[in-house]
Amino acid sequence: MLSWPQVSIPECDFLFPPLKINTSSGFFSERGEVFRSYVCGITPYDATHLGHAATYLTFDLIHRYQTLRGQNVEFVENITDIDDPLLERANRDGQNWFSLAQEQINLFKEDMTALRVLPPKNYVAVTEVINDVVLAITVIQENSYTYEISGDLYFRITPFLDLLPIELDMALKIFAERGGDPNREGKEHPLDPLLWQKNRDGEPGWDSPMGFGRPGWHIECSVIALRFLFGESYLRAKDLPDPMIDLQGGGSDLIFPHHFMSAALGFAITGKRFAASFVHTGMVGLEGEKMSKSKGNLVFVSKLLAAGLDPMVLRFALINAKYSSDRMWTTDILESSQLQVTIIRQALARQFVLDPAKYIEQMIQAISSDLDIPKALEILMEWAENSLSEINSPEIFTPGPMSRFLDSALGLAL
Ligand code: ZN
Repeated sequence: MLSWPQVSIPECDFLFPPLKINTSSGFFSERGEVFRSYVCGITPYDATHLGHAATYLTFDLIHRYQTLRGQNVEFVENITDIDDPLLERANRDGQNWFSLAQEQINLFKEDMTALRVLPPKNYVAVTEVINDVVLAITVIQENSYTYEISGDLYFRITPFLDLLPIELDMALKIFAERGGDPNREGKEHPLDPLLWQKNRDGEPGWDSPMGFGRPGWHIECSVIALRFLFGESYLRAKDLPDPMIDLQGGGSDLIFPHHFMSAALGFAITGKRFAASFVHTGMVGLEGEKMSKSKGNLVFVSKLLAAGLDPMVLRFALINAKYSSDRMWTTDILESSQLQVTIIRQALARQFVLDPAKYIEQMIQAISSDLDIPKALEILMEWAENSLSEINSPEIFTPGPMSRFLDSALGLAL
């Protein structure tokens, strides 16, 4: 699948200290010069709501930061273009599932482009890699992690249960809510996920040694990450690092079951731990309520932009929050962001401003401390407001370095 257009990062002459991201496995740390990052992509039927956008912007900030530190960022993202929610939506609307997916993928790419998100080097739809998925499943079978119920192939999760990120009771409840089938008769453990589903009438399917059918949800990310971050020969590679990739990212709703399952499957394929760090973003609510498709209150990026909103104002508004916390979206946030962006643009348009270097260094410190973007933007506003006040503006410094820094580190081309 073609990714969206490349976004250039202007050079930036500042020192970027190691990024201190607080992950579930302790502080994130670099391992060598290549930074292998895998971010879980959309299921293309409801793209791109503000929760999606906030998530992809968070990983964009991390990719920008690691690039500015001189790392070679290898970033892969998937598209879950074959899954129950997509097929259900297509059925409900009497639309072909494949064309619904294509429409939504195109919309997502347009939104990412408008928000200046760095594109993944490989943007991969599951339907493009069914052969790779089938190959990986046969390896998992050879490694004795599978069993069958009426033609459906299940994965044995029992050896991985001590890594469960939440209590078992809670896991069972969430598993049932997010596509799992804990109560199916014949399962060895209620949390065993479906690996290959035998074809159901009217559903798309593919031939495989496991029969005609389609992959379950989690296996795609294990396969796409390893196949595209380590190359086609990953299944035979003896020298994969352990853990294999540097970061797996996504919304906090993916902690369980998705990231837990895809890591277990990755281990079942290679015998190695999946990711050195998992980074999760908080959920975005609307005016005091949870934002969800069932409530029908999703706010879409494309609709805001079509109504004339400046994409840089939206980017400013969405990154101006602690990435890991849940947050509320309100129209006030947009209004105040619009005002702040106007002030910054006025400062950047001045011939002379306050010394940007001093402020940029403080902003980098804030960003490096667990991506404290609100703090960085506070420092930016102080620079902009002080630069606009005649008394403080010495006629020595030009705004160029600040403009380049905002573009490269924060993706704000103002
Ligand atoms: Zn995923």
